[in-house]
Amino acid sequence: MTDPIVQFKDVHKSFGDVDVLKGINLDIRPAEKIALIGPSGSGKTTIIRMLMTLEEPTSGQIIVEGDNLWQMEKGGKLVRANEKHLRSVRGEIGMVFQHFNLFPHMTILENCMTAPIHVQKENKASARKRSIEMLEKVGLGDKLDNYPSQLSGGQKQRVAMARALVMRPKIMLFDEVTSALDPELVGEVLEVIRDIAYEGEMAMVLVTHEMDFALDVADRVIFLDEGVIAEDGKPEDVLQHSNNERLQSFLHRFR
Ligand code: ADP
Repeated sequence: MTDPIVQFKDVHKSFGDVDVLKGINLDIRPAEKIALIGPSGSGKTTIIRMLMTLEEPTSGQIIVEGDNLWQMEKGGKLVRANEKHLRSVRGEIGMVFQHFNLFPHMTILENCMTAPIHVQKENKASARKRSIEMLEKVGLGDKLDNYPSQLSGGQKQRVAMARALVMRPKIMLFDEVTSALDPELVGEVLEVIRDIAYEGEMAMVLVTHEMDFALDVADRVIFLDEGVIAEDGKPEDVLQHSNNERLQSFLHRFR
């Protein structure tokens, strides 16, 4: 089996005296598609934010491509890996949020071009060409000069995906990207994610409440419950054949 690109080893996270994650062990392999499910407050977003290096563990290791992001000194004090390393890791991880986070004063083409030019130092012509290709891929090739305010929620979310994809990440994180959308716009966004997933190259972690979608797209489903991974396996095993009572009662809400 190929080496994982990300490993969580006994990761704990507390906010004040609240223990949110209580010993997470998780490997993510290249091109793997993982659906992360679980009740509100179970720690899904905290895992995603840790993957993005936006949040530090309280203890444990997060290893990205063989390098530990954080090191423990004697006495358990946590030290950041050097900033250069964190920046290079961030460059390999793309993220799409629930609330789009587009720049309102830029056209959608400019929204996509800005990070390749300013972060990756790509030349403008090439960033423009690749951004147009990505916007065409998500079905927005005719909206290049529109501003976010002129688009529907589903279209904005597709821009957010194009903007993340243009950075050519090795891992894409999707944090409840359809939760803020009107129901009739959910399908078009899931369809784009499905297309990206079927292309196969990137690892993807999807926090989602769309169980049919998880069954269809994911290689693996992880059920997070009260800060631990309570189930981890093939989608049909976890979503259809598990005897875990808490998972059953969680899934029941979506039926
Ligand atoms: P989920 O995404 O599964 O709904 P979260 O990871 O957002 O769960 O949150 C897990 C728990 O951690 C919640 O109880 C939440 O209130 C708490 N939490 C998350 N971030 C912070 C923070 N920055 N400060 C304090 N508590 C936090």
